[in-house]
Amino acid sequence: MTKTPEMIEQEAKEILAKLPENLTAKDRAAIPHMDMPAQDPKERIHNMNEVALGYTEDEALVEASRCLQCKNKPCVNGCPVGIDIPAFIHKITEKDYSGALSVIQESSLLPSICGRVCPQESQCQKYCTVGKMLKDVDQAVGIGRLERFVADHEAANTTIPEIAPATGKKVAVVGSGPASIACAADVRRAGHSVTVFEALHKMGGVLSYGIPEFRLPKRLVDKEIEKLSVMGIDFEKNVLVGRTRTIQELMEEDGFDAVFVGTGAGLPKFMGIPGEDLVSVFSANEYLTRSNLMKAYDEKDSLTPFFHSHKVAVFGGGNVAMDAARTALRLGADTVDIIYRRSREEMPARKEEIEHAVEEGCNLRLLSQPVEILGDENGIVKGVVIRKCELGEPDASGRRSPVEIPGSDYTVEYDTVIVSIGNASNPLIKRTTPEIETNRRGNFIVNEETCETSMKGVYAGGDIVLGAATVILAMGQGRKAAAAINEYLKEKK
Ligand code: FAD
Ligand code: SF4
Ligand code: SF4
Repeated sequence: MTKTPEMIEQEAKEILAKLPENLTAKDRAAIPHMDMPAQDPKERIHNMNEVALGYTEDEALVEASRCLQCKNKPCVNGCPVGIDIPAFIHKITEKDYSGALSVIQESSLLPSICGRVCPQESQCQKYCTVGKMLKDVDQAVGIGRLERFVADHEAANTTIPEIAPATGKKVAVVGSGPASIACAADVRRAGHSVTVFEALHKMGGVLSYGIPEFRLPKRLVDKEIEKLSVMGIDFEKNVLVGRTRTIQELMEEDGFDAVFVGTGAGLPKFMGIPGEDLVSVFSANEYLTRSNLMKAYDEKDSLTPFFHSHKVAVFGGGNVAMDAARTALRLGADTVDIIYRRSREEMPARKEEIEHAVEEGCNLRLLSQPVEILGDENGIVKGVVIRKCELGEPDASGRRSPVEIPGSDYTVEYDTVIVSIGNASNPLIKRTTPEIETNRRGNFIVNEETCETSMKGVYAGGDIVLGAATVILAMGQGRKAAAAINEYLKEKK
């Protein structure tokens, strides 16, 4: 039975009441892992509000008391920005929440965001000693949940970092996702003036247009952008670098001393099967952007109201596919099938996201490969031809590869298809800036230590370098690039 938020809070109170004063490692390992309170699945599919409700103070205190304060800090090695995890958790046990926030902020700018969306089970929590002792990564200390708790508890704390005296140097930051936000903040702190150029009409990159409100409330993203504005960073919306201004023009005509490119991987991939050009076939990017950024779910006020779907097929098994499927349910679809060619075990999405999707009523149509999308006489989707698969030998990714079963095709009726099989980098800057070397996938090639590209004074980080990766990896690269830009500008006349 899924526990209600009230049941979880009651459990926390009972555990706290019985906790001994001086906890031994054995006592700590015996404390049960606190579940994350969540909105009831039956209710939440009718709203866009956040699903995971966050720990209460009691729940956070119980979870924090499970940490063994390991001297060798294995969890820190799993955090791409190296947050001193045991130190911030220790502050929680002392109820020093602003102290905990300060520890986190030494390494990470966006704890309220990373605490929500980091794939912790494959990063910090993967290395947690408690998880290893209990032989279950899901039983590791809930580091991300505790990070979120601290950030939410201290939400009113809007301390602005100190800014060094003005240097007279100018830096352009292209794109406004997490890589750019992190880079812009650190460059600004060094006293340089910073302008962020964003192609869209809203800042935040995937945090704003991709990840749905029910996983990441947009007020948190807006608040971070507002903080950067207060630090003196300028934001220019609706500027498509490569079209409106090229990188060369920014440097040679507009006087920018250095440029950081954080343009992400926003170019959707398609399957190349017949019927992908039919009406009501969407890329997950388009579908989520319409919902998140253009508020298409708000029928009364949106200028771009939604296509009403009843039977939706989502192609793919990653986090983006889960986001698209769960969004489709909230937009009123009666049936949502997630069509994936391997088994549930091989799905690349986070376990928690798959569980949430299933709890909410999405169906997993596994070992199934779409081979054709069928249209009606008006060119609108009316069904998908699906071929059954079985699992073969492991491929380069280590996962067992899908093998199509000849003669197993069958057709299912759908009125909407959402293709979510991955993204590539947008080729615009590559095309207009041949000086920047790219690999065969179109990702920028950078120096691993400095994030500098092959063009002098131009740095890059995030998905444009890594391919579709994670928020925290993008932030880590943004910070690395900022450190190198600050060094470069010390020397530059
Ligand atoms: P982005 O966030 O992609 O931002 C790039 C920005 O650059 C965009 O705003 C774009 O409009 C702008 N831009 C592009 N070209 C130009 C140009 N020529 N001129 C000006 N601006 C330009 N990661 C996680 O860690 N956890 C998750 O739960 C998670 N969920 C995800 C869900 C979805 C639906 C998607 C799509 C991704 C998700 N990711 C998740 C991945 C994560 O969001 C990305 O790895 C991260 O946002 C990359 O950051 P970035 O700064 O490199 O680029
Ligand atoms: Fe873990 Fe992400 Fe927080 Fe690092 S930023 S400690 S990886 S949740
Ligand atoms: Fe605490 Fe786990 Fe890190 Fe050890 S590995 S310090 S138990 S969070």
